[in-house]
Amino acid sequence: MRKISILKKTWAIEGCLPGEKEVFLAGFAIKKKIYTGKSKYQSIDIFDTQGYGRMFFLDGLVQLSTKDEAVYHEMLVHPALMNHPSPKRVLIIGGGDGGALREVLKHPVKEAFLVEIDEKVIQVAKKYLPTLCRSAFQDKRSKIVVTDGIEFILKYKNYFDCIILDSNDPDGIMAAKLFEEKFLRAVKNALTKDGIFSAQTGYISDTFGMKARIVMKKVFPFYELHRAFVGSFPRDEHSFPVASLKVNLKNITKTVLEKRYKQRKISTLYYSPAMHLASSVFPPSFK
Ligand code: SAM
Repeated sequence: MRKISILKKTWAIEGCLPGEKEVFLAGFAIKKKIYTGKSKYQSIDIFDTQGYGRMFFLDGLVQLSTKDEAVYHEMLVHPALMNHPSPKRVLIIGGGDGGALREVLKHPVKEAFLVEIDEKVIQVAKKYLPTLCRSAFQDKRSKIVVTDGIEFILKYKNYFDCIILDSNDPDGIMAAKLFEEKFLRAVKNALTKDGIFSAQTGYISDTFGMKARIVMKKVFPFYELHRAFVGSFPRDEHSFPVASLKVNLKNITKTVLEKRYKQRKISTLYYSPAMHLASSVFPPSFK
């Protein structure tokens, strides 16, 4: 058996979600500790790793790695905005690392709100994760608001074309309320009549994420689930549900997507019109 030098390295081991059985661990060999600290909401750690570039943890859970964050942020943002004929006002709740904001700004939007409860996440991301946010926070269309998304959303009615929920996982302490029916109805209320909502709901096989998606299907008339494998979340494929008030998401054709992709001059590493459609195909057993 190949002698593994596991003990000679230092590892960042991703913990389990509260209440989760410890049946799986993911370890990332550390090259260098970049930042470690605590905000009033969560612990924040950033490491340079030997195989995944720079990694960002909140409360001991992987949020992203520079190696494959494009997969996550592109699949969280583009299926929603590409389903919309002309997204002008977009809201991101969470996403303090700036990755989702960077992707939203690739579309010809007029306003991109980012509502992040934890200012420390934005400060640390700007300083230590510059390839994530790039110039997104400085873009004149960006409106950065540090507050609880649950309160912020109540101030808007019929305003946003797209709302993106880039929060911690549904079963984490931070974000559980963001997946309850009351909040999703407030999201629906803040959307315009042909508005579109997307979220990240953790691993595709995660029960909390499934419960969150059942509530989404109850609140919104149209719904489509997309999946992508993100290497930094190695337990399973990641889930990206999209919900719509008026656009029947199953009727969006590749021709429409290709036209919008070309017209908006979008460049992406992982998302494409073909991937948009392929990522919503599931094995029969999954149904
Ligand atoms: N990429 C990550 C993942 O895969 O789980 C999630 C991205 S992001 C770092 C999650 C952000 O949501 C955190 O910065 C957290 O502070 C923020 N957040 C959690 N609850 C929130 C709330 N109620 N309002 C606004 N932001 C919130």
